[in-house]
Amino acid sequence: MDLIRVMPAEAKALTEKRGFDVLVVGGGVIGLSCAWRLAQRGARVAVVERDEPGGGATRVAAGMLAPVGELSFGEPELLELTLAAARLYPEFVEELEVASGESTGYEQLGALHVALDRDEAAQLRRVHDLQRSLELEAEWLPPRRCRELEPGLTPSFHGGVFAAGEAAIDPRALTVALLGALRAVGVEVRTGTEVTDGVFEGERLVGVRTPDEELRAETVVLASGAWSAADWLPEHARPPVRPVKGQVLELRRRDGEPPARHILASERVYLVPRGDGRLVVGATVEEMGFDTAVTAGGVHELLREAYRLLPDVAEMELLGATAGLRPGTPNNLPLVGPGAIDGLVLATGHFRNGILLAPLAAEAVAESLAAAPNSERRSSFPRNAAGKDERQPDLGVAR
Ligand SMILES: Cc1cc2nc3c(=O)[nH]c(=O)nc-3n(C[C@H](O)[C@H](O)[C@H](O)COP(=O)(O)OP(=O)(O)OC[C@H]3O[C@@H](n4cnc5c(N)ncnc54)[C@H](O)[C@@H]3O)c2cc1C
Repeated sequence: MDLIRVMPAEAKALTEKRGFDVLVVGGGVIGLSCAWRLAQRGARVAVVERDEPGGGATRVAAGMLAPVGELSFGEPELLELTLAAARLYPEFVEELEVASGESTGYEQLGALHVALDRDEAAQLRRVHDLQRSLELEAEWLPPRRCRELEPGLTPSFHGGVFAAGEAAIDPRALTVALLGALRAVGVEVRTGTEVTDGVFEGERLVGVRTPDEELRAETVVLASGAWSAADWLPEHARPPVRPVKGQVLELRRRDGEPPARHILASERVYLVPRGDGRLVVGATVEEMGFDTAVTAGGVHELLREAYRLLPDVAEMELLGATAGLRPGTPNNLPLVGPGAIDGLVLATGHFRNGILLAPLAAEAVAESLAAAPNSERRSSFPRNAAGKDERQPDLGVAR
């Protein structure tokens, strides 16, 4: 693609500088999506990834795109973001699949949340009341109707909520597609390259250092997931992101039949079928720092709860178990927008919804960088964690 010819006028200013216009630190779903959208607007972009692209939380994620079922009390800002992202997804995927020639495994499967006992039914009813009060697409179904939708469900349960619009994607296939799309727009992805330091001119961040070289850019986008509170940044510029461990299992039916027709969930587990016959079972939520060990307790809990929901699980092949680190923030909202120092833009803290939020975060970062002169850049994310237009996002009260 001829970058100069397709470049919008505002973005042109970005390229008339030395080095890159934008360096993205981190090649997970967020960094790759941001790089793609930025390059489409004509910016010269490089992604710096210390391992493999998508090798962080992105590789482990179940890939649910489920704003309705994942709804929690007291998180209206997050709901606004996840609904907006879910609306963007079909077009994002279509464009990405055309640009890369790769399939992402995106499918609008619908999600069925089942109450396995009386307590879970009472809890699910309360969530369903909230869903209805917000006019979200979700229907309460008695057990017979649930079983019509999903014949393999456990024989005894107390009804469920069906959210027909919920979708899923294979995050590893999404990573491959994003890399293909980045190749097509000429974005350099440096793998096996760790950012170890910042390069400063006065107070301004003008690039990064890796063990082998110094890379310069007008803007550095911090998309390092759970590792975003990086010690290569000055202390006051480190965003309040912490790792939240999650373990998942991968199963497969041995007869090659689809393991389930829909995303299935109970209070303690969710099951996400893939088009190739796999079933992802997730996920634990553990405050264990940077520990990524798969534990016997974690696997036991996931298998037990998956079996309670879908007894066929017992006959499935166990393909593997992995653990990843969600980038958590004190109020569960992402941090997208200007960092605390000039030259730094945050695209991090997407916690449990980074796969879902990626198209929205990428649009926001790309728009804000293309639209404003560097010194005036501000996020256009509908709500960043601050919900305000300030240099250091104000996270409010931690939960
Ligand atoms: C078990 C589990 C299940 C999940 N399920 C879902 C789901 O169903 N739906 C959903 O929407 N979300 C889900 N998530 C959340 C989602 O995975 C994350 O929010 C998302 O992957 C975050 O993407 P990211 O690009 O910010 O981080 P990551 O994917 O972690 O990428 C960050 C990258 O930065 C790199 N990096 C870090 N420091 C440096 C450095 N100094 N130099 C160079 N590179 C660096 C890392 O190597 C890594 O590749 C799940 C997460 C987990 C753990």
